[in-house]
Amino acid sequence: MSDNLLEKLDCVVVGAGVIGIAIARALAQAGREVVVLDAAEGIGTGTSSRNSEVIHAGIYYPHGSLMARLCVDGRRQLYAYCQERGVPYNNCGKLIVATTEEEASRLDAIRLRAQANGVEGMRMMSAAEARELEPNLLCTAALFSETTGILDSHAFMLALQGDAEAAGAAFVFNSPVKCGQTVQGGVQIEVGGTDPMRLECRLLINSAGLQAPQLAGAIRGLPKAFVPQAHYAKGNYFTLEGRSPFSRLIYPVPVAGGLGVHLTIDLGGQARFGPDVEWIDEIDYSVDLRRADSFYAAVRRYWPGLKDKALSPGYAGIRPKLTPHGAPASDFLIQGPEAHGVPGLINLFGIESPGLTSSLAVANLVKSLALASL
Ligand SMILES: Cc1cc2nc3c(=O)[nH]c(=O)nc-3n(C[C@H](O)[C@H](O)[C@H](O)COP(=O)(O)OP(=O)(O)OC[C@H]3O[C@@H](n4cnc5c(N)ncnc54)[C@H](O)[C@@H]3O)c2cc1C
Repeated sequence: MSDNLLEKLDCVVVGAGVIGIAIARALAQAGREVVVLDAAEGIGTGTSSRNSEVIHAGIYYPHGSLMARLCVDGRRQLYAYCQERGVPYNNCGKLIVATTEEEASRLDAIRLRAQANGVEGMRMMSAAEARELEPNLLCTAALFSETTGILDSHAFMLALQGDAEAAGAAFVFNSPVKCGQTVQGGVQIEVGGTDPMRLECRLLINSAGLQAPQLAGAIRGLPKAFVPQAHYAKGNYFTLEGRSPFSRLIYPVPVAGGLGVHLTIDLGGQARFGPDVEWIDEIDYSVDLRRADSFYAAVRRYWPGLKDKALSPGYAGIRPKLTPHGAPASDFLIQGPEAHGVPGLINLFGIESPGLTSSLAVANLVKSLALASL
């Protein structure tokens, strides 16, 4: 590590995505000194601005998993927060649509899992009932989720940042954390960028998203057994010209490894399809035009009205996966000293969907781990 000035801080949060910002807010409001460091030039430039902006109900996740618990809790907090802080949102609801009798037979299992997870407002619908809500829809049956919605994720992050700063947190950009080492009473880190420095903190929170495993691997003193291997699954989106033919979110019955090519809408009424699942080795946000063919086929199963050439490549986000292609999906992995035995360090790995929805609940959980270790 370089020898320049060593500043001592209370809590350092690495990453100003929605998770890091929510954690910084929770810790600052609990009276802790907090500095957030991000390699980028502003907040939310990573996965937090490359997602569907859906407020998930908490339907599909295995009962008892962190995803199930934090999504349901986070969703309830998120609606209340958006309401209170004037963050734009729309509790539009979502239809999970079956297009064959075989798929229809799987809807009830999805409803039961949602019920076990504590998801309110799930309702089975006949094809006729679903078409009454959405006349452009083709289906044999549907499951309606009344608590699903959409939000303006950037406005949400700005509101959280405002709260954090009002409680004394500082955000420092263009500051990539390169490496660290555990020391008596905390963790020392080396920060690169235009103004390189060395810092020492009592608590380091690694919420570096896709780079969290890499950063954890660069912290000397953390046993390698607690550093998962990173896997990336890109999700590509295609956008639809003109106004959305649906006013609710439309999801097919899930397929192995993903939720299927679904339709989400944004607050401006624009429809987009995706994300699909493309396993990749390197971070690369380009959208391959050739993937459009599979989108047309998947979407026409529930919306035969989709016209040729109506889709344009949109954007892509990358899921920070902890298991490789073909392996069972993993849960959020949030490890504090009670898990890895290293004081002063909390790592967040695999915070893929429903991370945005869960962010306020994740922040509460991390705050409890933090306050127990400080
Ligand atoms: C395709 C897709 C669709 C999704 N859709 C939804 C959805 O509809 N609803 C939902 O609830 N969730 C959704 N999610 C999940 C959600 O977007 C993420 O869980 C959430 O945004 C993760 O936030 P984060 O703060 O952990 O990561 P990020 O937003 O990626 O933030 C990490 C930050 O860390 C910084 N960083 C990285 N390394 C360093 C370093 N060494 N030093 C300093 N800074 C560093 C980066 O610059 C970045 O700003 C989706 C995810 C994907 C991929």
